[in-house]
Parts: sequence; structure tokens; C-alpha cells
Amino acid sequence: MEVFDAAELWSREQLEQTQLTRLRSTVAQARKCAFYRERLDAAGISSGSLHSLDDLRRIPFTTKQDLRSQYPTGLLCVPRSQIIRMHCSSGTTGSPVAICHTQNDINAWGDLMARCMYMVGVRRDDVFQNMSGYGLFTGGLGIHYGAERLGCMTIPAGAGNSRRQIKLARDFGTTVAHILPSYALILGEHLRQRGEDPRTFPLRIALVGAEPYTEEFRRRIEGLFEMKAYNSYGLSEMNGPGVAFECLAQDGMHIWEDAYIAEIVDPESGQPVPEGEVGELVMTCLCRQGMPILRYRTRDLTRFLPGTCACGRQHRRMDRILGRADDMFIIKGVNIYPMQIEQVIMTFGEVGQNYLILLENDGIGDVMRVQIEIRDEIFVEDMRALQNLQKAIAQRLRDEILITPRVELVQSNSLERGEGKAVRVRDMRNKK
Ligand code: AMP
Ligand code: ZN
Repeated sequence: MEVFDAAELWSREQLEQTQLTRLRSTVAQARKCAFYRERLDAAGISSGSLHSLDDLRRIPFTTKQDLRSQYPTGLLCVPRSQIIRMHCSSGTTGSPVAICHTQNDINAWGDLMARCMYMVGVRRDDVFQNMSGYGLFTGGLGIHYGAERLGCMTIPAGAGNSRRQIKLARDFGTTVAHILPSYALILGEHLRQRGEDPRTFPLRIALVGAEPYTEEFRRRIEGLFEMKAYNSYGLSEMNGPGVAFECLAQDGMHIWEDAYIAEIVDPESGQPVPEGEVGELVMTCLCRQGMPILRYRTRDLTRFLPGTCACGRQHRRMDRILGRADDMFIIKGVNIYPMQIEQVIMTFGEVGQNYLILLENDGIGDVMRVQIEIRDEIFVEDMRALQNLQKAIAQRLRDEILITPRVELVQSNSLERGEGKAVRVRDMRNKK
């Protein structure tokens, strides 16, 4: 197998040995800031007291709140003069979380990203178009550097502006794109509206991530453009994209265990969940000097996939993100994740590119409405056909989530959509 980095082929033993060595040096590095020094002292941890990977569990968790409390530079572990870049996480509430990088940090991140792209077949002859927002968001520069590292011609198109995206891709023959899943369908629809078949678009590979989406959604994107779409996972606190990525097998994302340690814990108790069960992903970065972060509570829910991958890499795989612990909502006593809804509605061929879940209180109780965009050619059908479709979707949703939502079919492009990550739920129950 051709790989970008020999570490991809390491055995479990090599990986675990490296993890322990790097964990020790990361702990030593983290102790250079007062926040971690005090935390680690209180837990009695120094780099020398870590004898095996199991000792990781003695290290206290780091939460988003901790990172906020140290904004802007409380977690710096190198002199300010060694920092060459900062990024922020895309959280929309509260004060931001800023992550600062040294030149080595940026190089290592670029290498990880290049490794991901090489793994799914991206080569120097490819033309790569980054349709992700640039600026503070890590999906811009993070992936950009990976593509350049591979030697691809890189087009930093940025988010949105479908007309320009299409022109650039057609003029330069874009073969690989980085794209938000929610935007991929919108771009396809835009092409269709111009009378162009998205399958004639030159793309052969898409790197798709930054927000949760289902397998059904992926198949739809792949079919629409007749290309392969690979799931890309990352978060700013752990650099950004390049943390875990699907290989050609498309059967879970390999977590790069030479650069990270992943754990899955019960979100309530913080204890490890039994092997293969769903829980909250906790991440430690092993290759960062500027701002190392130990045992970060991502709030993302997933599980480790059992067994080894058909590709032969020994880096553990995680399932696609099933949702965020914060995304779950409770309605009529039932716990629901937006992805359960998406999974159902995306199996209907009539469904267009966007949907929105609205939670309201009608004075008697909680009500859930699901607004679903329908493809234009379906929307002109007779009333009865639309009513039947509405009923069929409501019925299937009921089977999945055990309550019957109000399904509203709306016209294509009628639901509001910004350029960033898609908003799937609007909870208006306490807003009067
Ligand atoms: P940011 O704050 O911009 O770094 O966003 C990081 C968050 O985006 C993660 O914690 C996840 O919730 C989400 N995310 C990133 N990649 C994926 C993916 N492939 N699938 C689902 N969610 C993702
Ligand atoms: Zn694999």
C-alpha cells in the first residue's frame, strides 16, 4: 500500500509505544502554563509518573469552559514570539476559544491533512478547490496547507457563491473539493437549475465534514455528482481537520493515533464506556507545542468500530459522529438527535437539499415540526401526491423516533441557509 507517512502502517505496539512517549513529553510541555501546572500538580501528575497509557485516566479532563476561561493566551506553553498562527472554534455562544500554533505545529498539522488526502487518492496532479470558509475557521487554511503539501493546484475559493464555485471548477478542472455536506446538495441543485447535470461536473473526490451527516446523506452526494465522498473529522481544539478520516474502505474514520489519543467516555460519569458502545469522544493531542490540550471533552458522540479495517491500517476507527451531546433534544419525554430525523428523510427521493426541525410549545404541550424542502419537479405535482408523501414521511419518522411530528413540505431554497455550518434545529419552546 502506498502511504504518505510511514506512521500509517505502524503496528498497534509501535503506536502505543509512541503514544506513551509523546504523552509524557506533551504533559511536560503542558506544565509550562500555570493552568495545567496547577491542575496536574493537584492530581499528582508529572511526565515521570506516567508509566503506562492507563495512567492517562488520572489526568483531569479539559472542558470548553476551561479553554474559555484561559482566553486568549492563558494556555500558551511557548513564548508568544514563537506563535505564528491562531484559530478559533466555531461555537456561536459565549466567549471564543482560541488555539495558537508554532511553526512546528502548523507543519505537523499540514502533514496530517496531506496524509488524509493521499489516503483517499488525492495526488499532485489534482486540482483542489476548498469550498470551506477561510479566516478563523480551521477548515479553510487547515486543509489548504495539506493540499499544497501534496503539490495540488489549490484554489482557495472560500464558502458559498455557487456561481463562482462552478465557474472556477469548470475553468480549472477541479477534481477534488472540500465541502460542507449541507452545501454539497445546494451546489448540486444550483447546477441543476442552470440546466447542467451535476454528474458532468469534473469532481472525482470530495472531502466532506465539519458537521454531522448520515450515511444516506453521503450516498446522495455521491450519486448527485458521481464521485466519492469521504468523511473528514476534526475540531479546532485538536488543530482542526486531519484528526480522523475515512480511507478508501469508507467504513469508519481512522483516528491518527501517532498524533492523538482518543477515548470514549460516558458523558455523565466520565468513565470509559464498554468497548464498541456510544459515548463522548475525549481527545489528547500528542504533537503540539504552542498549546497542548489534555483529555479534551469534545461533546461529540461516537463509538470505536470493532476489528481491523480492510485497508490494513491499525489506527483505530470511529463511527461517523452521531450527534453532539448538546444537540439532543427531548420532546414528549423522548430523547432525539437531529441525525435520526435526517436518516429517515434522506431516504425519500423526493426530498430536496435542506430541512429544519422546529420545536415549539402550543400552550398544551411541546410540538415538533419538520420543514422539508422538496425537489422542484415534485412540488408541481397534485395535492394528493404531496399529501401522501407528507404522510409517508411522518409515518417513517414515527417508526424511528416514536412520536409523530408535523411534517411540512416546502419549496426548494425556501429555508434560510447561511454560509457556515447548517443549523438543523430551532428550539423556540422557551422563547415567548
Ligand atoms: P470547530 O469548532 O469549527 O472546530 O468544529 C468542530 C466540531 O465540528 C466538532 O466538534 C464536531 O461537532 C463537528 N464536526 C467536525 N467534523 C465532523 C464530521 N465529519 N462529522 C460530524 N461532525 C463534525
Ligand atoms: Zn482503512
